[in-house]
Amino acid sequence: RRKWKRLLAVLKDFDEACGTPVGRLRQVVDAMAVEMHAGLASEGGSKLKMLLTFVDKLPTGGEKGSYYALDVGGTSFRVLRVQLGGKRSSILAQDVEHEPIPPHLMTRTIEDLFDFIASGLKQFVEKGNGSQHSPVGRELGFTFSFPVKQTSISSGILIKWTKGFAIEDMVGKEVVECLQAALTRNGLDMLVTVLVNDTVGTMALEHYHDPDTVAAVIIGTGTNACYMERADAIIKCQGLLTTSGGMVVNMEWGNFWSSHLPRTTYDFDLDAESPNPNDQVFEKMISGMYLGDIVRRVILRMSLESDIFGPVSSRLSMPFILQTPLMAAIHDDDTPDLTEVARIMKEVLEISEIPLKVRKLVVKVCAVVTRRAARLAAAGIVGILKKIGRDGSGGIASGRSRSDTKMRRTVVAIEGDLYTSYTMFREYLHEALHEILGEDIAHHVILKITQDGSATGAALLAAAQSSSN
Ligand code: ADP
Repeated sequence: RRKWKRLLAVLKDFDEACGTPVGRLRQVVDAMAVEMHAGLASEGGSKLKMLLTFVDKLPTGGEKGSYYALDVGGTSFRVLRVQLGGKRSSILAQDVEHEPIPPHLMTRTIEDLFDFIASGLKQFVEKGNGSQHSPVGRELGFTFSFPVKQTSISSGILIKWTKGFAIEDMVGKEVVECLQAALTRNGLDMLVTVLVNDTVGTMALEHYHDPDTVAAVIIGTGTNACYMERADAIIKCQGLLTTSGGMVVNMEWGNFWSSHLPRTTYDFDLDAESPNPNDQVFEKMISGMYLGDIVRRVILRMSLESDIFGPVSSRLSMPFILQTPLMAAIHDDDTPDLTEVARIMKEVLEISEIPLKVRKLVVKVCAVVTRRAARLAAAGIVGILKKIGRDGSGGIASGRSRSDTKMRRTVVAIEGDLYTSYTMFREYLHEALHEILGEDIAHHVILKITQDGSATGAALLAAAQSSSN
């Protein structure tokens, strides 16, 4: 019996340390808005990089013509073409192709990587031109989801590689020049007119459908957000002139940090053992890459504290063995005997025959981890809304009182499988949004799921940018 009590104590301590009462969430909201401000005030002023994107004109739905996009940001690349007819919501035709990038090309030379991508694009273009839906476009939007310091909407320098890529020569180089050179080498007469990352693509796609779109958030393997900022609020870039008076800012919010974040010993351990300690603290509490591993760490602790789990399974010491989709399956198990939980515990963690009441504790651990993640993501979103005066309070330092601001319809685009595939995550996030904002204000805030925004949005931005539109 004492052992059962110890199990409960581990869970209780963990649950308390993960606490996100609405007061704490509001502190996170405020910290996010303050850090955004600091990141805009000076280069290196905050852990939030607040990168300029030079995107000042989002697609309106009026664009016409045929445009291509190329999306590189992970283990595969995508090419697509959109055909636009000029009326909002009518992307007339969209062809997409997916191709894995052979791992050896991620670490060889710039030419090897980009020639591979360019030849994939070439095949796609030639195939498309053979079919009916011409006319042929030659403008290309490029989604490149690595940290880039942009110098214009169509140029930027690679700051560093992530996600397993390591072509050292390319760090510090003009990304678009590398691609453009490969296109020329491969005999492709195309012009790269737009360089963006995945959040900006997502925002562009939703804005094409809905002009009230003010921000985009990605919650998948990693997490990031962007939003439309007033040009005069981007203090670190004095005299920034844009046609619209605004510019999309890529927050790189995965790196957000605040003392108000409810971190536990499990989070500190995960961070310390990661390849990038002290980096991406927000991301490590929120995104799909990490949630399952936090759960694994708590179960390991429980198993060390009590023999109810049997001898300590060596599987429990293997980092990332419990992936987030499995954690979601545990959490979603609605069978009375929690048979799915038992199956995963046995097959993945090699822990068998644990009593039902212990399986229930495992489900509870998943719930605690996901609830905290989703509620923090909600606080992050409200932080953005607060910064731009769409949280119903009139914005920071605006001096206006609550009563003279009328809350406008506000759309935030969301993409990423953690949000779209994990039902409880989505529900916790919505619940927190309502708690923080209050029903009256939350009613005006709409989260819209987009699909393939990262690539489609780049093609739409190429269209918005084109002289023919
Ligand atoms: P990206 O890798 O570009 O972020 P996605 O948006 O598809 O791609 O997100 C994939 C991540 O979402 C996976 O790494 C995983 O952590 C998480 N995920 C995928 N499916 C599920 C699921 N059913 N439940 C919970 N998380 C999931």
